[in-house]
Amino acid sequence: MSTQTLTEAKMTHHDLLKDQVAIVTGSGRGIGLAIAKRLANAGATAIITDITEEFASSGAKEITDSGLKAFPTVCNVTDVSSIEKMTEEVMNKYGKVDILVNNAGITKDTLFMRMKLEDWSAVIETNLTSVFKVTQSVIKNMSKANYGRIVNIASVIGMHGNFGQANYAASKAGVIALTKTLAKEYASKNVTCNAIAPGFIDTAMTQKLKPEMKEQYLKFIPLGRFGQPEDVAEAAFYFCTGGSYITGQVIVVDGGMFM
Ligand code: NAP
Repeated sequence: MSTQTLTEAKMTHHDLLKDQVAIVTGSGRGIGLAIAKRLANAGATAIITDITEEFASSGAKEITDSGLKAFPTVCNVTDVSSIEKMTEEVMNKYGKVDILVNNAGITKDTLFMRMKLEDWSAVIETNLTSVFKVTQSVIKNMSKANYGRIVNIASVIGMHGNFGQANYAASKAGVIALTKTLAKEYASKNVTCNAIAPGFIDTAMTQKLKPEMKEQYLKFIPLGRFGQPEDVAEAAFYFCTGGSYITGQVIVVDGGMFM
């Protein structure tokens, strides 16, 4: 499909998520912001939550400046009181949460023999335990409303492992297992829970890798390019719109790197 036709197709879907409220964690920039934009483009109000106030505000402003709906709020996904404050704020303002995208994540890469317990714990806390904490604070409202779409951002590394990423791989494998369990426990409440496993996506997280390492990765990507945040956003959009009979699944968005 040409870019022109794709844009037109997106335009015709601008009200698929009309009146829905979507929380996207860590959405001040990167993949989270692209997902928030995609959902807002389909009519949702995107709740832009980030640990950094400046990014939360600038992300939300980008969306509202283009005539779409967004609301910025600070939330550190490792901190239960910060999460509860955010959920309360959203519930008071909008009365519901239809979509939750657990996106916030970090890396602290080093070979296993050099990995400190604090590197392990920080990544498990931010990438995995956060999904437990944020989902616990939101899912009861979805359950009561008998509707919800949860999308967790995992990684291909959580399925295959990687040198220097023991903490990250374990956290993302945990996210996948948690996704499947939530899918089973909440299916009867019409709450679906799916995961996206991106490959190499061009964001601040991967921009810090050495150029020679990036070249090495590129060789293994059949589609011949790094992914863009928008590529991941399309998969999230699908789970929140067309995918009402899909739950407990992991969709890989990696340009064919692992197949
Ligand atoms: P990114 O550009 O670094 O964005 C991550 C976002 O999460 C940032 O806005 C960051 O805020 C926020 N964040 C970090 N710690 C947080 C916390 N404790 N509470 C709230 N927000 C927090 O990275 P990205 O590439 O977009 O990553 C998004 C997700 O995709 C992550 O879960 C990552 O593991 C996953 N992923 C990425 C790739 C890739 O190749 N890029 C591949 C597979 C999976 P600040 O910037 O303010 O710190």
